[in-house]
Amino acid sequence: MDERAISALREIFGERLKDSLEDRICYSFDATGKEFLPDAVAFPLTAEEVRRTVLLANEFRFPVIPRGAGSGFSGGSLPVRGGVVLSLERMDRILSIDTENLVAVVEPGVVTETLKEEAKKRGLFYPPDPASLKFCTIGGNLAECAGGMCAVKYGVTRDYVLGLEAVLGTGELLRTGVYTVKGVVGYDLTRMLVGSEGTLGIITKATLKLIPLPESAATLLAFFRTNGEGARAVAGIVEERITPCAMEMMDRTAIDCVREIADLPVPGDAGCALLIEVDGPEASVSQEAGRVRAACSRFGATEVRLSTDAAGREKLWELRRSISPAIRRVNPVKINEDIVVPRSRLPVMYDFLSDLAARKNLKIVNFGHAGDGNIHVNIMISGKDEDERRRADDAVEEVFRKTVELGGTISGEHGIGIAKAPFLEMEVGPLGVSVMKRLKDCFDPNGILNPGKIFVSESAARP
Ligand SMILES: Cc1cc2nc3c(=O)[nH]c(=O)nc-3n(C[C@H](O)[C@H](O)[C@H](O)COP(=O)(O)OP(=O)(O)OC[C@H]3O[C@@H](n4cnc5c(N)ncnc54)[C@H](O)[C@@H]3O)c2cc1C
Repeated sequence: MDERAISALREIFGERLKDSLEDRICYSFDATGKEFLPDAVAFPLTAEEVRRTVLLANEFRFPVIPRGAGSGFSGGSLPVRGGVVLSLERMDRILSIDTENLVAVVEPGVVTETLKEEAKKRGLFYPPDPASLKFCTIGGNLAECAGGMCAVKYGVTRDYVLGLEAVLGTGELLRTGVYTVKGVVGYDLTRMLVGSEGTLGIITKATLKLIPLPESAATLLAFFRTNGEGARAVAGIVEERITPCAMEMMDRTAIDCVREIADLPVPGDAGCALLIEVDGPEASVSQEAGRVRAACSRFGATEVRLSTDAAGREKLWELRRSISPAIRRVNPVKINEDIVVPRSRLPVMYDFLSDLAARKNLKIVNFGHAGDGNIHVNIMISGKDEDERRRADDAVEEVFRKTVELGGTISGEHGIGIAKAPFLEMEVGPLGVSVMKRLKDCFDPNGILNPGKIFVSESAARP
């Protein structure tokens, strides 16, 4: 990067601009495990500093990569072409929680759990709950449209955004959306920015919707002999017209990984587990829990455990929460996909995945938010065997083709980034890609914001 650009950035940020190798390394990776060194890292405190950075970037033509906590799974915050990583972590104030209108206004660096806790203290609920909520940020959640366990009932981040403030690739400060429950004035620029992975604008403020906190909840853990039975139970519960606030499914490979580390007895013949949670007023929770238990039994559950108190529910959740650490212990290298299929097609998809694992001679661990058809497909690899890597890459492509064929989508919550750029067209078609590129040109004519992401022609890294 041009030395004059670095000096100009230092005038804006002073000590908050870092360009030592140590600092650059700290901001060179995300949860994909891939690494690209930025030329510098800056920590803005205001939208004005963000704006001045983007104006400079247009003058000196360097990339600007917005970053939250760097927990993304698709490479969105990686500086693949160098440039300045703009870490929004210090813009972390909750500006207001309006208990009359049920609205929160926050800066992008607020950690998701902090907002949820502050809302809870006031009897309010901010539902989006990515499993990374203890460290990921609202800005990253907005840019990826993060989902989570309770998306099946409450939806995803997009459903809780009323309005945004963002610096566009031109350096202009755009305010979108409303502070009200409704609003239909012009194009929906708020939704345009949500899920845009930092390629259209840098979000500097968000106006978010809150809802009343549910009164009570019950958690059920059901074991089945096969994936097919578990997947049919998911469809059966949905057909019962019950909407659980979480419905998580773990297949035999996932159960086997956690069996050793979770402090929870798992039946020896368990080939599939479903963790289901219902919430709402106490009377309806106990009635729905009973109906869920009956539905699980009808579809072949060998055992169903139920808990309504906080400690007991937490114990049941342990099985699900142990999966990621357990997988990492068994196999540190994995390719992690997050496909979604219509819920009725889950049995077909699970059958396909076990056949694929056998055909390609690969270990594939599947678990995820089955209530919304979202499966985390984890292909375990050694990372050293080239033939295995080729088989794994072929398997990923087959998984995506099958997903699209079944009417699904190749990413439910992790986004495209660099990881899925080669497959974008498979789902949205050439016209879809072309319209998206035209929109990108409109928001960011000089390609300043997060270059190398989403589009394959863009995704080559700098040498
Ligand atoms: C253990 C683990 C569990 C996870 N579980 C889930 C899950 O259940 N559901 C889920 O959806 N995801 C999950 N994720 C993925 C990840 O946590 C989410 O994508 C999260 O939203 C990323 O937030 P972040 O602050 O880390 O953003 P980063 O990773 O820093 O950035 C993600 C993207 O957002 C952009 N960005 C960041 N801030 C801004 C901003 N202010 N303006 C514009 N663009 C910005 C970046 O450029 C990048 O493209 C998980 C990750 C891990 C490691």
